[in-house]
Amino acid sequence: MHSCCAPCSTYPLALMRSMGYSVSALFLNPNIYPDEEREKRWLAMQDLASKQGLHVLRADMGHDRWLEAVSKDLSKPGRCLGCYRLRLDETARIAREEGFDCFTTSLLLSIYQDHEGIIREALEASRRHSVEFLYFDFRKGYRRSREMARGMHLYMQKYCGCEFSLGGEPS
Ligand code: SF4
Repeated sequence: MHSCCAPCSTYPLALMRSMGYSVSALFLNPNIYPDEEREKRWLAMQDLASKQGLHVLRADMGHDRWLEAVSKDLSKPGRCLGCYRLRLDETARIAREEGFDCFTTSLLLSIYQDHEGIIREALEASRRHSVEFLYFDFRKGYRRSREMARGMHLYMQKYCGCEFSLGGEPS
């Protein structure tokens, strides 16, 4: 599972485990600005991993590369589609390289993101890298995920991630 952050990974992890999946998480979020904030979210991810016995991988590609990928259209929804594309393409590539059967993303939990856009980008990444995309509509667990994160005392950020969302666009 591509994990955008720890709070958004709580419910998807619990749901997939209840369905019998063996889940690993990949923290791959070059969108997060500034670097100190990315490290804070990474620490929260490690916190979740230790509390839930979750195997977590991390991959970095640099915020400059992310900026380059979204620079053609900095307004919404174009910027966010480019942001999903970069993260999900790299997730699918790594899933294939590391021998995982399939991939999904915690982005599918958010009631604030472009759910259909995430699905489209994930399917394209799946085709490009020949690895199955596992779709779940995690959105029904959005409120539950906030309760779970609070219950586990996880760090909960106040904005989506990039500099353009610093004003308070939710994740
Ligand atoms: S608002 Fe969130 S999804 Fe959209 S570009 Fe910024 S970090 Fe990515």
